[in-house]
Order: sequence, then structure tokens, then C-alpha cells
Amino acid sequence: MRLIDSHCHLNAERFAGDEEIVLTRARDAGVERLLVPGWNAASSSRALDLVERFPWLDASVGVHPHDAAKVDAAGWRQIVGWATDPRVVAIGETGLDYDRVFSPIPDQLVNLRRNLALALETAKPAIIHVRSKAGHGDAQDATVDELTRLGFGSQASLSAFGADRPPAVIHSFSGSVAYARRVLDLGLAISISGLAFRPGEESTADVIRLVPADRLLVETDSPYLSPPGAPRGRNEPEWVRVTAEWVAARRSAANDAFGEGLVGAYERTFRSGTGR
Ligand SMILES: [Zn+2]
Repeated sequence: MRLIDSHCHLNAERFAGDEEIVLTRARDAGVERLLVPGWNAASSSRALDLVERFPWLDASVGVHPHDAAKVDAAGWRQIVGWATDPRVVAIGETGLDYDRVFSPIPDQLVNLRRNLALALETAKPAIIHVRSKAGHGDAQDATVDELTRLGFGSQASLSAFGADRPPAVIHSFSGSVAYARRVLDLGLAISISGLAFRPGEESTADVIRLVPADRLLVETDSPYLSPPGAPRGRNEPEWVRVTAEWVAARRSAANDAFGEGLVGAYERTFRSGTGR
């Protein structure tokens, strides 16, 4: 089965020194492309270093909601500088986390807006993390409001991305079917991770059936969110296969055909507009 991992923090401390062996295991499992997202200036820089060492990887640069209050002006200037680098295929990860709230919500909103504006400016899709407390959807609602206000799904994103490329990806999807419909209406892509297997995330199985094949991605979010069967301590990109096979089954698709679709969706989302 052909595979991609649209979100893998190989730039995290837990992979330091092990990158080569982890990537060999991923290749052996069928992973053809892998995106390494930054979450602040230092991790964005490490993502670029990894693409330099392993040219089949792609990088993204940006600021995570957890780091929204921690990135200073110099750090943001570095990220803006790297954003136009051809090895950078997306902006993020950014987003809103109303569950853990490691940065105050007003800071998260300012951070999200400037990351989204950078995505529109560079015509590179935003990678968006959205989590609310169990049983709530306030972060999801706020994300849709911000996207809409900035012109995602209307003139601003159409002129930057055209009608065929998603202007943003909802990474590690979590939320209701109604929310999924709203982000799909804005033209976004949806990426499914091991989070989908956890209690409270049951609606994701229904969401999977709604997403057009060319806007459906899978990811591990390594070293986090291990799917069933993967080691709990450190998730790795090879385990994207578990999630991909489960998603294919939810869509009643054959694994091989589904894998072809994944590679196509990845290329279209991250690489078609950037000359990578
Ligand atoms: Zn992440």
C-alpha cells in the first residue's frame, strides 16, 4: 500500500539521533512522502535541516497554539523568512487549543491570524490544530469564524490557491460532522490521525465518509497519538499504515486504491503549487 504521513514531528527531541532508522522503517512500510511541521522557530529550523538531509521529506514552518505566547518578534521574523523557502510546503502547525490552553486564548487568536495571513501571502496551505474540551466545539467554531473572516473559501483563498488546491488542512481531525461539513465547504483538506481511535472521537468515522478523496490525508502526529498496535511511548511514521487501513475500510475502499488516492491528495495539497 502506498502511504504518506502528512504530519510527523521528526524534529522532536524524542527522535534526536534516531531519524535515519525511523525513516528506514517508514520507507519499508510504504511511506513515500512525509511532512515535518514546525511548532516554533527552533523546531521549524530543525524541520528545514531534516529536509536538507533527507530530500524526500517536506517541511512546514509556523507557530502552534501552545507556543502562541512564547514566540517573540525575532522568532516570528525568522519564520516569515523561511516561509518562502521552496523546501517549505505549508505554514504551521498553527490553530486553537481550548482544551489545554497552554497559551492564553487571545494570544492564540493573534497567532492563528498571522499564520493564516502568511499562508495566503505565500500560497502555501495552513496546517491547523483544533481541539476543544471533551463534549465542546468552541475551538472548532472559532477556527471556522477566523478562516471565513480572512477569506478562506472565498476571494482571498481562491486568488492564492485557485479552486483545486486546499488553502488549509485540518490536522488530526477532532470534531463533529457538522463542523467537518463547514471546513469542507471552505475547500479545506482533512487529515486523520490515531486520535480517531480514542473514546469521544467516534464522529470521525462518519466524517471520513464525507471527505472527497483528493482532500483526505492521513498522519501519525509522531511522536504522539499512537494508533492501536503502535508503541505507546513513541509513535513513528511506519504506524500510519494502521490508520490508513482503518480509514480505507470506513470508505469501503481497497487498500491499494486508497493508497494511490493518498499520494495524489498529498501531492495536490502540498506540492502542486510550490514547485517541489
Ligand atoms: Zn502536530
